[in-house]
Amino acid sequence: MNKQFSILKTGDEVKARIQEMAGEINRDYAGITEEQPLLVLCTLRGAVFFASDLVRAVSIPCELDFIKIKSYQGTRPAGSPIFELGEQINVSGRNVLIVEDIVDTGQTMDTVMHNFADKGAKSIRIAAMLDKPSRRLPHLVGKVEADYVGFSIPDEFVIGWGLDYNEQFRLLPDIMIYHPEHEES
Ligand code: 5GP
Repeated sequence: MNKQFSILKTGDEVKARIQEMAGEINRDYAGITEEQPLLVLCTLRGAVFFASDLVRAVSIPCELDFIKIKSYQGTRPAGSPIFELGEQINVSGRNVLIVEDIVDTGQTMDTVMHNFADKGAKSIRIAAMLDKPSRRLPHLVGKVEADYVGFSIPDEFVIGWGLDYNEQFRLLPDIMIYHPEHEES
């Protein structure tokens, strides 16, 4: 097998975990009504498959919209995260669930949560497919934590299931650890 890739979670494991997460979300938002559905904000592009499976697995009323935050280049963070899309979404008085592919240093979710809190969101929670707790910036430990976590993973660069490496590998059906240094020449 190619040494550049190793499977971390199979697509079947991810799908099964999403069903469990949907159950947790149904329980926690049991009071949500059709008049004021849960506002689910999917972060583009990495969370797109996770979010689409998750919103179809929950049974509470949801509205789906998209945000896009720029933060990564290659396998290294590219500075402070900024909104590229969705900063204008009206979150005032809304229960917001941000659906994120992976929480790493925590900076992206910190930026998003501050922005939406300033705009008067009633509640803000995070559902993350993956979490790398060992990578959290010290000042964000305990402050930026996902409320729903698919899998807690070690400090490895992962691809597949929506996650890319410079726009490659997003469509892979499993979550894989990527070792670019093992490229065969
Ligand atoms: P944070 O702001 O928490 O450091 O980073 C969050 C963003 O970085 C994620 O939404 C994701 O786009 C990107 N990211 C962090 N770790 C990984 C990784 O292992 N693989 C990929 N493909 N993206 C990652």
